Formats: sequence, structure tokens, C-alpha cells
Amino acid sequence: MPVITRVNYGQSASISGLAGAVSLAGSGRGVWAIEGGNWQMAAGLINRSDAAVHLHEEIDSVSYLGEYYELNSTKGNSYKCEVAVVATPLDELNIQFTPPISIPKRKLQHTHATFVRGLLNPGYFGLDAVSEIPKLVATLEDPDLPFTSISVLKKHDEKDFTYKIFSREPMADILLDSFFSVRQETIRIDWGAYPHYNAPEEFAPFILDDRNLYYVNAFENAASTVETSAITAENIARLILSRFFSQLLLISSNLGSNSDGEILHVDL
Ligand SMILES: Cc1cc2nc3c(=O)[nH]c(=O)nc-3n(C[C@H](O)[C@H](O)[C@H](O)COP(=O)(O)OP(=O)(O)OC[C@H]3O[C@@H](n4cnc5c(N)ncnc54)[C@H](O)[C@@H]3O)c2cc1C
Repeated sequence: MPVITRVNYGQSASISGLAGAVSLAGSGRGVWAIEGGNWQMAAGLINRSDAAVHLHEEIDSVSYLGEYYELNSTKGNSYKCEVAVVATPLDELNIQFTPPISIPKRKLQHTHATFVRGLLNPGYFGLDAVSEIPKLVATLEDPDLPFTSISVLKKHDEKDFTYKIFSREPMADILLDSFFSVRQETIRIDWGAYPHYNAPEEFAPFILDDRNLYYVNAFENAASTVETSAITAENIARLILSRFFSQLLLISSNLGSNSDGEILHVDL
């Protein structure tokens, strides 16, 4: 189990039962990937919707101005909307919210992904030949072990592979050279990957301001996966339809509230 939580969440097994179970599910069979890259799923969804997508542009402030939100971007653009959804972890971002929002402090677990094209050195693993090195080498919690896992992404030929290394710290060249006999190309990515789990988890609200500002990534305190994020996003879309249209219904017909004046939401 500690090996699995290290590979999937970059942390020890001291996490909630649910996050641990999700981690376990991700280690078995029945895990899917799209041939050619999972990015095609996001691209396909965008192409099928009529959404206006603004790439390479960050929102740096969100202000509630009475009947709408104003979103300002680092490119100096300004967007107005009646409903705003935050769909990225807020923990390491500096988006200014007016009025301010309050969410519990959450630390992200950083996973350093290092991609190396080359050849592992079997001697480092106490082996005689590269062919004896398993396709996935995963490690236990031990401060002396410099990586969490090494896996083969692609075999080009007997002496030319692409490997993916996960580690908690950046992989220095000198360290890589201790377990690679050949290293042609190295790419490093530092991901603020998932919450650093700390059970019992304290969740941020899904509705950040009691109005129409939503937060998908609040769910990640339970588990962080593509599937759970997709389900959360669907539930938030349903919540928006329910809350937003019941508000419109209320305005247009003066109906939709119970005897206590509480708004009744359309159930979707
Ligand atoms: C190394 C690694 C391995 C993983 N392996 C798996 C796996 O095998 N299976 C699995 O299910 N999950 C895996 N995950 C988790 C999975 O990637 C996440 O759960 C999923 O991507 C969350 O989706 P999201 O849309 O909430 O966030 P993201 O995919 O992070 O998307 C957020 C988007 O918001 C954008 N953004 C950020 N700030 C701003 C801003 N200010 N303005 C506008 N846009 C902004 C970002 O550029 C990004 O495009 C892995 C994660 C990592 C890092």
C-alpha cells in the first residue's frame, strides 16, 4: 500500500481511507488511457461545445459587482459573467477576490516528473543486464531513496528507452547520472500535483460566496483523479442550473419559495 500511495499521490499511506482506496483503484487493471494522449479528451470536449476558450491567459482577479462578476486577466482583458466557476486549485495561486473569499489552508504535494531518453544502469539496481530491470521500479518510504518510481514509457530499441521518473525533489544531473549509463535528453516538470492529504480533511465550500461563484477543486480533499474531477464538474453544472434557474423562475413568477421564504431549487 505505501508503494501505491507513493506512486499515485507522491505521499505515504497516512491519508484518508477514501484517498487510499482511490489510489489502490488506480494501481490495478481497468485503468484507461487514450491512445495518442489523454489531452485529446479535453480537446474533444472543447470542440463539441460552443465555448469560447482563451488560452495562455490567466485570470488574476474576480470581483462581484452587484449583478455580475468581472474577471480580469493578466493580458488586460476583462470578462463579465453571471456565474463564475473556479476549476483549478487555488492553493498556490494569487487570484484577488472581491469581496474576499475564505477557504481552509491546503498544502499541495509537489511531484517532480523527469522524462529521460537513454538507458538505465543495471549496476545501480544490483543487476547484470538492462533486460532484468522491471518496467516499473517503485520504492518504499526511505529518506535515502532519491525517487518514488521509474517506469518505461517507450522502448525505442534494446538500448534506447524513454523513462518517466517521479520524485519529491528535483532530480539533479549528477543524481541522474548515477543510475543512467546513457542520457540523451531530459525534461523536468514540477507539478503542484494533488493535495498533501491530512485526514480528517477540511473541505473548502463548493459555493465560495453564497451567490454564483463555484469551486470544483474543493472535492480534491477527498481524492484527486480525472474521473472524480469530471463528476464534480458535472455536479457543479447541475447545481448551477438548479440554483441559477430557480432564481430566474423566482424573479419572473414570484414562485419558488416555501412558506419560510427559502428558495426552492429545481431538482435536476
Ligand atoms: C504527475 C501527475 C500524475 C497524475 N496521474 C493521474 C492518473 O494517472 N490518473 C488520474 O485520474 N489523475 C491523475 N492525476 C491527477 C489529475 O491530473 C487531476 O486530478 C486533474 O488534472 C484535475 O483536473 P482539473 O481540471 O481540476 O485541473 P487541471 O487539469 O490542473 O486544470 C486546471 C487548468 O486551469 C488553468 N489555470 C490555472 N490558473 C489559472 C488562472 N489563474 N486563470 C486561468 N486558468 C488557470 C491551468 O493552466 C490548467 O489548464 C495526476 C496528476 C499529476 C500532476
